[in-house]
Amino acid sequence: MSSQTRRDFLKHTTAAAAATITAGCITPPPAARLANRGPLIVSTWGFGKPANELALNVLQDGGSALDAVEQGVRHVESSGNTSVGLSGLPNAAGVVQLDACIMNGPGHQAGSVAGVEGVLHPISAARLVMEKTPHVMLVGPGAYWFAKQNGLEVRDGQADEASYRAWLPKQKKPAPGQGDKPENHDTIALLILDAAGNIAAGCSTSGWGGKVPGRVGDSPIIGAGTYADNRTAGISCTGHGEYFIRHAVAHDISARIAYKKESLAKAARDVVQTVLKQAGGSGGIIGLDAQGNVVMEFNTNAMTRGSIGPDGILKTAIFK
Ligand code: ASP
Repeated sequence: MSSQTRRDFLKHTTAAAAATITAGCITPPPAARLANRGPLIVSTWGFGKPANELALNVLQDGGSALDAVEQGVRHVESSGNTSVGLSGLPNAAGVVQLDACIMNGPGHQAGSVAGVEGVLHPISAARLVMEKTPHVMLVGPGAYWFAKQNGLEVRDGQADEASYRAWLPKQKKPAPGQGDKPENHDTIALLILDAAGNIAAGCSTSGWGGKVPGRVGDSPIIGAGTYADNRTAGISCTGHGEYFIRHAVAHDISARIAYKKESLAKAARDVVQTVLKQAGGSGGIIGLDAQGNVVMEFNTNAMTRGSIGPDGILKTAIFK
């Protein structure tokens, strides 16, 4: 099959598979062992599906796992999404402040930006931090300056009081005692296992809508919202970030695999369903390991997510 025909076929089959999704399926998918034939692509939420497809195209065109993660996440960042990118949720001062990170499984290289304003593609800024600086994390105005210096597209004047005024009345009032629970938030998290057996991970979000200005979530914090290590797994998280930070969720799962010799499935289940849940943290994780095992574990009522396997077919897109 020519690569173009194959791509059309893949698009057709992924769309067809998605069309047959049945609401109410409550069984998480069994971990699929894919014999390291890669690529394998997993992402969070409905907006992950086009990101998966774009990432697959990048890999088929010869791009690396990092290229595919970056391009897939960029797609969501500029898609007009309401919880990712500059169209995302403003903070309590009406300003959109973005978090993103990227990590490379083979060498533990990582880059992230946090609380950055006006940068159209924070995931690309994160990758530049990883590849062009001796640092891992840049925040706020420094991250903006760095992105601009490196030629990334920036938009000034993001202090958008109008969008905040439009957003605010739509927010539900927190129930008594529930005032610290974020009502609006989501993260594009994207994991890739490439044909060479290398894992790459990335994520991007505007974080918790209405957050205190300067608040940083789990997403840009290596080991909290994202982690990638070829020897253990790639893990990326979505949910109430404060709990993922306090419990170092992504690294905890990796550490259980490394030191307790647990499977990815067991480690993810124990951390999400026991550690995180008992602490009161809501959310979920996606994970994959170098053997092609995939997990999508969550303790919330719903977390749509999907993956594309080595055959290019959408394996899972389940609503709970
Ligand atoms: N974890 C993100 C944060 O707390 C939001 C989300 O993924 O829903 O910023």
